[in-house]
Amino acid sequence: MLLRHTTDKIIDRSALTINPAKTCQPIGAMYAALGVHGCLPHSHGSQGCCSYHRSMLTRHFKEPVMAATSSFTEGASVFGGQANMLQAVTTIFSTYEPDIIAAHTTCLSETIGDDLTQMAKKARDEGKIPAGRHMIGTATPSYVGSHITGYANQLTSFVNYFAETTGEKSKKLNILAGWCEPSDMREIKRLAKLMGVEINLLPDTSDVLDTPMTGKYRMYPKGGTTIPEMVSMGDAKKTIGLGHWCTRGAAVALENKCKVSFVIEDLPFGLKATDRFIQALSKYGIAKIPTEITDERGRLVDMITDMHQYLHGKRVALWGDPDEIIPIAEFLVDIDMKPVYIVSGTPGKHFMERMENIMTVKCPEAKYKNGERADLFLLHQWIKQQGVDLLIGNTHGKFIARDENTPLVRVGFPIIDRVGHSYFPLVGYTGAIRLVEKMLDAILDKTDATCPEEKLELVM
Ligand code: SF4
Repeated sequence: MLLRHTTDKIIDRSALTINPAKTCQPIGAMYAALGVHGCLPHSHGSQGCCSYHRSMLTRHFKEPVMAATSSFTEGASVFGGQANMLQAVTTIFSTYEPDIIAAHTTCLSETIGDDLTQMAKKARDEGKIPAGRHMIGTATPSYVGSHITGYANQLTSFVNYFAETTGEKSKKLNILAGWCEPSDMREIKRLAKLMGVEINLLPDTSDVLDTPMTGKYRMYPKGGTTIPEMVSMGDAKKTIGLGHWCTRGAAVALENKCKVSFVIEDLPFGLKATDRFIQALSKYGIAKIPTEITDERGRLVDMITDMHQYLHGKRVALWGDPDEIIPIAEFLVDIDMKPVYIVSGTPGKHFMERMENIMTVKCPEAKYKNGERADLFLLHQWIKQQGVDLLIGNTHGKFIARDENTPLVRVGFPIIDRVGHSYFPLVGYTGAIRLVEKMLDAILDKTDATCPEEKLELVM
């Protein structure tokens, strides 16, 4: 049940999180694993965890999400889940025939100390993993971090397991995608292709969680990063990680294992973050920026200029995942909006440093917090003290929107009551155009509904 606000008093809390701006680690691991071709995520814990994670992903993407579970009962909870895991490996490879089982832990299996790496070794030693197939274990204890931590841990496991170096560098760049939509991953590939830069994108959920209706069910859709692509990441000339939280761990692992140096950029939301991404592609891919891309940028700048009077000074509350909301906050400040309240449930010191850099000059009144108790309850308290013109975040903010009669632009995870996010990107210049369009629709709809002159015009 959602706990609602009735007062503008800030309730001091030292231990309780209410309406968190995050969800649990295995959801992130499951999402990242779905972005690898032929990979079946496996939840090592009770059926309830797995059902919850699958249902959240299904409700967000409106696609069937397949994952297996170790189906713990009381016995496994007391004596450990190894027997369940080994049985599951046999069943999965004989029945569902994935190329890879990407197993991750849950709170329960972490608490009792199950070690998936050791179980994967035992399964291999006992011949339960067929030739040419793979099993990877990832620790995703949900009582630390968030779904973003789980996503990052899963990416690191893929890199550690698959990437190999032959000693000869290829022409390719690795792009490690932070958590974004299948549409965003498709857009990242489109931009790289326009630049003429060959990339290995990990993960890649396009053509996995945005598949067309064909009348035929495919357990492993055609999309996803392939095993050869992951292996060849060890020979790439550079890695570009898009998102500090989601990709830094994997980028470091790849550098340690295969000596592929890396840079971390923001996910390309908004103008400046996209500029930095395109410049990184140009610099490390040794490629010119084509006219198509500079035209897209020009159209974004034109739209911002045309509609600046409706955006200027608008107060915004923003919540979600740090790799998304940092570049979005930067974009809002760049177009003279005021992101006055920002929360993220994902911990990490880097958040406060980045926000300080973005806000200090152009929005010094902004309040921002991440980690423990940086939740929607706190955000609502702030809004009660002084309202905002616009909310930007996931579906969970709709109750604040209703209570405060403030428009909500749905961005982030989960979005369970709207469609479009899987199909239309928010990254890149065209994605930023879409974000501005969505914000303007929300702001102008509200203005139209409350402006007496407008009502008069309609009557006349
Ligand atoms: S028990 Fe842990 S892993 Fe399972 S759903 Fe709850 S928070 Fe997530």
